[in-house]
Amino acid sequence: MLKGKTAVVTGGTRGIGFAIVKKYLENGANVAVSGSRQETVEKALAQLPEYQDRIMGIWPDLCSPKEVAAAFDSVKERFGSLDILVNNAGVSSRTSLYEYTLEEFTGILDINLKAIFVCSQAAARHMKEQGGGTIINASSMVGEYGQPCGCAYPATKFAVNGLTKSLARELAKDHIRVNAVAPGVTKTDMVAALPKEMVERISAGIPLGRPGEPVDVANAYLYLGSDMASYVTGVVLRVDGAAMN
Ligand code: NAD
Repeated sequence: MLKGKTAVVTGGTRGIGFAIVKKYLENGANVAVSGSRQETVEKALAQLPEYQDRIMGIWPDLCSPKEVAAAFDSVKERFGSLDILVNNAGVSSRTSLYEYTLEEFTGILDINLKAIFVCSQAAARHMKEQGGGTIINASSMVGEYGQPCGCAYPATKFAVNGLTKSLARELAKDHIRVNAVAPGVTKTDMVAALPKEMVERISAGIPLGRPGEPVDVANAYLYLGSDMASYVTGVVLRVDGAAMN
């Protein structure tokens, strides 16, 4: 479904991001795995020996326009194009309003929102020049409902939905589609860090009767990244087993 296309996947070293990397490679794409540290990126790459000719690692500071532009230039140089940007990197939060420091709050905004702006700007410049492309952002079910703690996290996901819908309208003229994926509870390190009772309570309310697997979410990223979604833009696609909250 992605033969000949080149994708950058931020936060591609583990969890949902790593599942997207694998899914994209299985479907023929060249993939640049973006992570916060060289060491974790190289560890992820080492797990995919069969794809070494179609994979590379980058580790820019995602909030630095200069570092991101240089990294994306290197991807284009290696593979010849940049067709898909997956803005997957994210950090969650459970801090109460009374406990938050401004530093923690803005740190979450940086990686969950500012990084998407910076990476989208750098990627869109390449995509516009080459005649099109697609951007897919990580939202969340809490970007619809909010959550009872860690308010910075849902606040960023609401903002991701707004950024997605706005960029879809702005970039349509450049043949760049922009969508978001909003997973429910998905079995990754992010969820492993939550209290067991909280995960059980949330899981019990999922009509499909189970939490999501990273591959369930990666399949949505595959669809939106492919030409199967050629007329789909500005959408926030829920992948949550019909969870309500
Ligand atoms: P995870 O914690 O397993 O992985 C997050 C990834 O983001 C890691 O690869 C990490 O290295 C990367 N990352 C974090 N900070 C970074 C930084 N400063 N620079 C570069 N990379 C950084 O999380 P996950 O569960 O796989 O979540 C992936 C995305 O999906 C996130 O945006 C998350 O908000 C979203 N999401 C997850 C769930 C879930 O239940 N797991 C639900 C809804 C939305």
